[in-house]
Amino acid sequence: MKIVTGIAEVRALVRQARQEGKTVGLVPTMGFLHEGHLTLMRTARAAHGLVVASIFVNPLQFGPREDYAVYPRDLDRDASLAASAGVDVVFAPPVEEMYPQGPANVLTAVEVRDITERLCGAQRPGHFRGVATVVAKLFNIVTPDVAYFGEKDAQQVVVIKRMTAELSMDVAIATVPIVREADGLALSSRNVFLNPAERQAALVLSRSIRLARERLEAGERNAAAIRKVIKELIGSEPLAASDYISVCDPATLRELEAIEGPALVALAVRIGKTRLIDNMTWEG
Ligand code: AMP
Repeated sequence: MKIVTGIAEVRALVRQARQEGKTVGLVPTMGFLHEGHLTLMRTARAAHGLVVASIFVNPLQFGPREDYAVYPRDLDRDASLAASAGVDVVFAPPVEEMYPQGPANVLTAVEVRDITERLCGAQRPGHFRGVATVVAKLFNIVTPDVAYFGEKDAQQVVVIKRMTAELSMDVAIATVPIVREADGLALSSRNVFLNPAERQAALVLSRSIRLARERLEAGERNAAAIRKVIKELIGSEPLAASDYISVCDPATLRELEAIEGPALVALAVRIGKTRLIDNMTWEG
């Protein structure tokens, strides 16, 4: 496995692979890899001759009071994990390679409207502009046939699919289901921020998702009733504070009243200082 930091180097490797008739899979990540990321990488490995994983903590997608500076980073560990998952190329550019004039001086952005202002976007203004911009940039650099994303970030998948469709980008978007710890907690690089009491409290997210599924399976079709039971469950956990509880249309992300077809149940919860997300899609 090669670790490259330059755009020109990764382009050369992709060009060579294409000449050899290989297809290219890309797994964009912010590093501090866990089994969720590795599942994406193994899925890409099974489908492509060249698998590129990017590791880049993108300053454009963090708000001024968010955790950019303290976001966990460990490139050595990430490189050996990526190699074990069959990745061919880790692309780990420094910030100057991606934004030579500094992130604050970037003048060009990809703006997906409306769906980026809901759910996580309501609390994190500019977040999805940063995500869409860096993903578009990675697509231009790597030119993947398929890019792989986790359903853990459900809104991100909706935004990226919309961006690629509306900008006619020549890339397919593939997704993998949420990978969880044995007790249900969705894997996240941010889980390292949790102390033991918070780690226990964080189970309120997956419990909420499970409760929503149970209610839906029992025939509940009132979205407000689902939001209410989740709100009560989160309210019963002293270390948890919800940012949002959404039962929405999986394509438009508009809140539902009656659940008559597919629904996305999504939540963001602060556990102490750590903001965690979880979701499930009800196929209807
Ligand atoms: P991140 O490094 O957090 O930006 O995540 C990189 C990719 O891994 C994104 O497509 C995420 O949705 C995906 N991912 C993160 N956590 C999980 C998980 N627990 N299960 C599946 N995919 C995940």
